[in-house]
Parts: sequence; structure tokens; C-alpha cells
Amino acid sequence: MSTSERPTDTKSLLARLDGAAAYTLTLTDRWDVSPSLIGMRLEGDLSTLHPLPGNDLMFGIPDAGGDGTFRRRYTIRSINHEADSLELWVDRIPGGPGALWAEKTPLGSLVEAIGPRGQVVLDPMADWHLFVGDLSFISAAYAMAEAIDPPGQALFVLEIPDPADAVLPELDDHIGVTVCFVERSERSLDDPSGLIRSLDVLEFPRDDGHVYVGGELHVVAALKHYFGERAIPGDALHTKPYWRLGVSNLPHGEPKKD
Ligand SMILES: Cc1cc2nc3c(=O)[nH]c(=O)nc-3n(C[C@H](O)[C@H](O)[C@H](O)COP(=O)(O)OP(=O)(O)OC[C@H]3O[C@@H](n4cnc5c(N)ncnc54)[C@H](O)[C@@H]3O)c2cc1C
Repeated sequence: MSTSERPTDTKSLLARLDGAAAYTLTLTDRWDVSPSLIGMRLEGDLSTLHPLPGNDLMFGIPDAGGDGTFRRRYTIRSINHEADSLELWVDRIPGGPGALWAEKTPLGSLVEAIGPRGQVVLDPMADWHLFVGDLSFISAAYAMAEAIDPPGQALFVLEIPDPADAVLPELDDHIGVTVCFVERSERSLDDPSGLIRSLDVLEFPRDDGHVYVGGELHVVAALKHYFGERAIPGDALHTKPYWRLGVSNLPHGEPKKD
């Protein structure tokens, strides 16, 4: 059975996802982080949820007419165990069921979340960390960057649709920071050239670094190739496609690969 055909009901997911549990959460707040980013607060009993920065949850999206097994994945931007709450940052895009859920679900609604999930987490041995991607990746990038032990170095090259989306992470004062926001302008969402032009003029720090890439499938593939050419070793590069232009993510939440 291919990955895309695996069942997405709660029991099957819990049987196959090591270390994951199901949580029933209530949507308690929603706000604009920026013009294109929706902030969401969800609350519930989180006493057994201990994600690594960069981990995500798989949400059961009440897809119109669906059977409750339609999933979308969103990165945990932050978790507060004292308040039993967590935050998500969701890219405001037209149309898809995940984006619709993020934008329109009434406060007080319940949602099932399964996790923690995710392989892209901070490399604790790296001296510097470079995060590259689009707004769907900003939650993961900032959650990981905020976990860097000082004196480390965080570099960001992030493509944004609107200059007002240039929101910053909350980093320790002793972390060196370089941030480059690339405005998308008229470029297509699967065009990596804006990010690559900015990376071309970025000098990587000395010592050992780690590069993390997340976003549109073709952009992520192009960047994987790019970093190979810039001699970033494979074990210092984590790439993760989050979505695919023109193609809905599959019912288990991953973008469709060819
Ligand atoms: C591990 C993981 C973690 C993720 N974390 C986050 C997160 O923290 N925040 C976040 O916003 N997203 C995140 N995503 C992406 C998210 O799961 C969905 O893919 C996204 O919200 C779109 O889902 P949808 O159901 O609205 O659209 P879909 O049904 O998947 O797609 C509908 C249409 O919208 C287009 N589309 C989808 N995503 C985008 C986009 N970002 N920009 C422009 N067009 C798009 C598609 O190409 C398609 O044409 C993550 C994905 C993965 C795999």
C-alpha cells in the first residue's frame, strides 16, 4: 500500500505513528499575526504532549461531507503547559480545506490533533542554523530558532507575499541573527529564483552549520539541489515539502509526489 493510500482514521494512525497520541483541543482564539498569517490558540489537556521545536500536529479537518478522517498538518509554533494551550501560525491562502478551517472555524469548536509528528528538528551540534522557505515554514523555522542555545547563530531567508509579513522571531539576545525577507512580487509560488538570488549573496558562517528548508514542493527540490552545489553535506541539510502548487495535499496531509 502506498503512503497516500494508508488509512487516516485515528486508530490506524495511532497504531502506525510511534510516540503519537490523540488530543481533543478547543479553538479559543484567532488573530492576525500579519496580513498573510493567521494565529490560532488551541486548548486542552496537553500534559502528555512534549513536542520538539519544529514538530507538528495532524489535525482532523471537518472536510465538507467527509467522515472526519481528512488531515492537515500544522507546526506547533509554541506550547504553554501551564496554560494547557498551544499556538499555530497558518498561511492564509484562498480555498483549501485546511486554510478554510484556520480562517473560519468558530471559536469554541473542537478539533482532534494527533502527534507530535515531524522529522525536521534542530541539530543541537550545529554552530549556525539557516532556515529557508515560505510562510508555511515560518512557524517551524521560528520554533526551532528560538530553541538555539546561545551563543549560536540563526539565519533566515524567507519569501513573503507582503512586506507587512516580515514578522520576527523572539530570540535570545546572545544569538547572532541575520534575516532576509524576500518579497515574492510577481513570481510564481513554485519559482525558487527569488530565494536563490538572496542565498547567492549570503556568505555562510564558518564552523559547522545546518540548513532547514520547508515550503512548496518544487521550490524545496530546487533548494535541495542548490545547497548540494554549495557543498552543504547531506547530513547537514533537512528539507521538507509542505504543499504543492496547484495540487491539494493528500488526505493524510502530505503533498502529492510524482
Ligand atoms: C509537516 C508539515 C507542517 C506544516 N506546517 C504548517 C504550518 O505551520 N503553517 C502552515 O500554514 N502550513 C503548514 N503546512 C501546510 C499545511 O498542512 C497545508 O498544506 C496548507 O495549509 C494548505 O492546506 P489546504 O487544505 O488549505 O489546501 P490544499 O487542499 O492542500 O490545497 C488547495 C490549493 O491551495 C494551494 N496551496 C496550498 N498551500 C499553499 C500555500 N502555503 N500558499 C499558496 N497556495 C497554497 C495548493 O497548491 C492547492 O492548489 C505544513 C505541512 C506539513 C506537511
